Amino acid sequence: MAESHDLTMPPRAEESAALLIHLLDRCNLHCDHCYMDGAANGSKFLPLDVVLRCLDETERLGIRTVYFSGGEPFLYPGLEAILALLPQKPTFRPVICTNGTLIRGADAAKVKASGASAQVSIDGDEEYHDRFRRSAGAFHAANRGIQELVAAGVPVAAVVTICQDNLGCLPWLAEWAIEKGVERISVQPLQQVGRGARIAHRKLTEDQMCELFVRLSDLGYAYRPRGLRFSLQYRARNYLLAHPCAAFVCNGERCHRQVAKEIKTLVVREDGAVLPEIPSLHPRFALGNVMESTLVDLVTRYFSDGYANFHGLCRAVFAEVMPGFGAPIVPWDEIVSERSWARQDCGSELRTLQVSHERDREAAGPL
Ligand code: SF4
Repeated sequence: MAESHDLTMPPRAEESAALLIHLLDRCNLHCDHCYMDGAANGSKFLPLDVVLRCLDETERLGIRTVYFSGGEPFLYPGLEAILALLPQKPTFRPVICTNGTLIRGADAAKVKASGASAQVSIDGDEEYHDRFRRSAGAFHAANRGIQELVAAGVPVAAVVTICQDNLGCLPWLAEWAIEKGVERISVQPLQQVGRGARIAHRKLTEDQMCELFVRLSDLGYAYRPRGLRFSLQYRARNYLLAHPCAAFVCNGERCHRQVAKEIKTLVVREDGAVLPEIPSLHPRFALGNVMESTLVDLVTRYFSDGYANFHGLCRAVFAEVMPGFGAPIVPWDEIVSERSWARQDCGSELRTLQVSHERDREAAGPL
């Protein structure tokens, strides 16, 4: 399930860091917008022992929220072993990110026993969803999977990729979610990355983005009494300007949190590459590869000599984009991801930027 997962769900100060693991690139769907080109012939996957080692290290790094994604995680042969392990890690808040189509009752029971919640992709009604996901029957199968999860007692959020074609679907989706027992609708605007670049003309305009924001506010207000919440994965321009650390632009000594270097989200891709913050970032910003080194070592080295590269990119893009950005909502991750691929020269240029002081705790401590 390679879309921009809702990584905003449990944002609490010291425990807000998250790990996003892409277990494999194989998927039974072939969605129009997939940022990692998930497909039935995908052959890359993380060996189970590497995943389990990463989870052990995740505990040592103080990360609590762990997202398991793909491709489709229910095609990963080791998923059952991972789910069985999770109850031994009570500090974790695990989330399974799935297209929902392969989940049967027994799978849902294992997810429930693991303590994980689920994020399931649903983009609109059956006709739209099946077209967008390029798979007849995908909506029906995902609905069945959601029903199994809800019946087993697993908290389910629906992740909606929104573009010009389904902007009008939100009221319908709200009623659908209430009927299915879905607790939250997380809206992520279409990103111009991976296969999404081919349908970039269907992205929301700035005006439509503002309209989306208003619609979600209205829906959130109307549906809160019925137990349904809404979230939007983009960030408010004013918030980013006031808190550049939300744009991964660290203020060093001027930071109100006294943090000079941090990783909010650690991404482990199916080929073992470890990226800071954004799954679709250019690989030259990778911390390294978990097949060759431990996660703790990669993080430690990153804080010692790799951080300036990514931080420099974010700082340069922030200075270039934010002052003239007109819309109140900013697709920050997408902008940085696009620039990371476009600005082939920025890595070396920006290495000269220095952070003013180290984070006030061990690099290998809580992120
Ligand atoms: S469900 Fe769609 S978006 Fe997710 S990995 Fe499969 S092809 Fe990609």
